[in-house]
Amino acid sequence: MNPDGPGVNPDEPGAPVTMVGVIPFLLAGLAVLLAWVAPGLMARQKRFRRAPRASLVAWQAVSLGGILAALAAAPATLPLLLEGEDALERTELVAPAVLLSTAVLARVLYAGHDVGVRLRRVRADHRQLVDIIATHERDRVRILQHPTPTAYCIPGRQARVVLSQGVLDALPADQLEAVVAHEDAHLRARHDLLLEFFAVVHRAVPAPLRSDAALSEVRLLVEVLADRAAVRRSGEVATARALLALAGSRTPEAALGVGTTAPVRLRLLADGPPHPVLPAVAYTYAALAGTLPLVLLAAAWT
Ligand SMILES: [Zn+2]
Repeated sequence: MNPDGPGVNPDEPGAPVTMVGVIPFLLAGLAVLLAWVAPGLMARQKRFRRAPRASLVAWQAVSLGGILAALAAAPATLPLLLEGEDALERTELVAPAVLLSTAVLARVLYAGHDVGVRLRRVRADHRQLVDIIATHERDRVRILQHPTPTAYCIPGRQARVVLSQGVLDALPADQLEAVVAHEDAHLRARHDLLLEFFAVVHRAVPAPLRSDAALSEVRLLVEVLADRAAVRRSGEVATARALLALAGSRTPEAALGVGTTAPVRLRLLADGPPHPVLPAVAYTYAALAGTLPLVLLAAAWT
């Protein structure tokens, strides 16, 4: 009779892998789930756009959770190596996990460097150009002598809010105030850093698994947040009219503008605040996605 119970004799070839041996695979599966499957499904849940802050937290948690799960796969195999005599046999479990964690770490670091350097260079060049050709209004506001209504901000330490003469001519004072409030909200809340984080994650994920819809969705959510700030300063009507006036206006690369995605944002303004259940669901989902990789890693070590 087998003293260890049926099917768990470690001396027998093909003995079942213990729970500890399964955890690295669970982490690898979770990484794929959070990096590939979840973003596609989340981008389709359009009702959560009405709770932009909670949704952005959920998106961040899923992105971080995916990276954490992949990075945790290697340390989760360490208990297998430390288990003793059969450690060599276990290396076939350890090697793929170490490979996954190392590859993801390398991709995240490279993407972080690449995206960060490029964004800062483009913004610095654009700010330099704006400072040369635009007139200084007040503080960080600059006016471009151009008839097309345009408004955007250039984030960074020397941030600028750029308005065209066309937007000054076209909009009354309250709508202009809404436009500036929108851009100020981007700069104050450092939405550029948030979007940079998502751009890095997007770049780090291998191309076949990448979700462009996810990136579009977080860009939209950031715009909705800035719209809410504009509503708080100038009211719904002025914000909606300003959005309408700037609908379709083009924004330079690496800047944050008011005009893109205007039709969806107008509808969201009209919809008003969400049912309290929506943010609660998003925050719970975020907590699960963010902590599950750590729970699995802890389980591997206990
Ligand atoms: Zn914006």
